[in-house]
Amino acid sequence: MSRVATNTKFMQKYDYVIIGAGVSGLAAAQQLRRQGKTPLVLEARDRIGGRVLTHRGRGLVDFGAQYIHGANAATWEWVRDNEIVTQAWFNETNPTTAHTHLFAVDGQWLSGDEALKTRIAELCNHPTQQPAHDISFADYYRPLAPADDPAFILANVRNERIEAADLTRLSAYHTAHERNISTSGWGNFKVPNGYDAIVAALAKEVNVQLNSPVLQVDWSEDGAILHLPTQQIWARYVIVTLPLSLLQLGMPVFNPPLPAEKLQAIHALAMGHVCKLVLWFKTPFWQDFTFISTNGVVASWWPVLSSPATLMGYSGGPRAIQLSSLGQAGAIEQGLHELSQLYGPAVREQFSEGHLQDWSTDPWARGAYSYTPVGAGSARQQLAAALANTLFFAGEAANVNGHHATIHGAIERGREAADEAMQTG
Ligand SMILES: Cc1cc2nc3c(=O)[nH]c(=O)nc-3n(C[C@H](O)[C@H](O)[C@H](O)COP(=O)(O)OP(=O)(O)OC[C@H]3O[C@@H](n4cnc5c(N)ncnc54)[C@H](O)[C@@H]3O)c2cc1C
Repeated sequence: MSRVATNTKFMQKYDYVIIGAGVSGLAAAQQLRRQGKTPLVLEARDRIGGRVLTHRGRGLVDFGAQYIHGANAATWEWVRDNEIVTQAWFNETNPTTAHTHLFAVDGQWLSGDEALKTRIAELCNHPTQQPAHDISFADYYRPLAPADDPAFILANVRNERIEAADLTRLSAYHTAHERNISTSGWGNFKVPNGYDAIVAALAKEVNVQLNSPVLQVDWSEDGAILHLPTQQIWARYVIVTLPLSLLQLGMPVFNPPLPAEKLQAIHALAMGHVCKLVLWFKTPFWQDFTFISTNGVVASWWPVLSSPATLMGYSGGPRAIQLSSLGQAGAIEQGLHELSQLYGPAVREQFSEGHLQDWSTDPWARGAYSYTPVGAGSARQQLAAALANTLFFAGEAANVNGHHATIHGAIERGREAADEAMQTG
């Protein structure tokens, strides 16, 4: 291992530097602060929160994460300590909840009878046991029902949406294992006053430097030099919380390059895609409902209760990529077209404005959250492994407890990486 050669005499020096002020980086910073450390967090954007983005305009809409998944999620510590208001929301795989869940296939409503709901929920809850070998969701699901069974169609779209994944790549074997080891519990909870309250809680008294993209990391067992556009910073320990997609794109540059096992792990995992399509209307044309599941390009809809006459469209996996390819105007048109098939001319009469939140083209996210493809094996463990007692890896994708792709998984992994760095120091 070569030593960092540049003269560090005139650089700012820190014991701990964290790259990324998303929830993982902020949680890492809080963990360090609890032990009396004073980390610096470097953030490329002009805001904190990363894939959490609360929009306040005609009402309040979360353009990124918006639910707490599970009654035991690590997020609750911050929610309770900061008295952040939450509300239970429905769980689509539990058909007994008292919510209006509507279903449509090919632009036509399906009768929402209990048998259909139960059948969809049954299919959505698969795999209930880990398959004997590593196969994709597509291969695992194929024998379970005829391809034209509406419940089967909607369950597949739901899996794409939830996992943000291409089902021909998503591993049923690894996903079943990840679900089995998860301890986050059941239930979904909204944060009606905005998810950014959780980010604000995590950021309290943390030293964040905004507009500071790290372009290159020169690293050795002695520490690292972080190259920013107009600044270099020396750090003894670096916690990297970057989205998987950026690591896959080779951003930032690591010098020396990351070792082969680390690169293999980075490329064995997959970044999933999600688009949120927000449509604001003059007045609601719909009767109260909780959720619509469809097989349109926009895979689901729900009313945003914190914003008047607002519908949220949500697609994951290939449908999100399709929506992204349409661009803002095209995606809005697609959403209006699909809603009009269900609700008629009132949709266009009442339409006011729309917004496509496309995380795939966001330069500092390049996707929504990670998933585990067939063949990924122990890639998350390898991604999370520290290098040279200098580089520590966090972010949702490095969570090995079955909690990747979530806020609580990112928080958990941020804390763990901070502990690993402190144990080294
Ligand atoms: C549409 C959508 C909906 C979601 N819904 C939910 C949900 O309801 N519940 C849930 O639990 N999870 C949800 N998630 C997942 C959740 O948002 C993520 O798992 C979590 O926010 C990831 O946090 P992170 O800190 O690992 O990454 P990020 O939030 O991406 O933070 C990484 C930070 O690094 C910064 N950065 C990137 N490159 C550089 C660089 N070179 N130098 C410096 N900084 C850099 C980025 O700007 C970013 O701020 C959703 C995600 C999306 C996209």
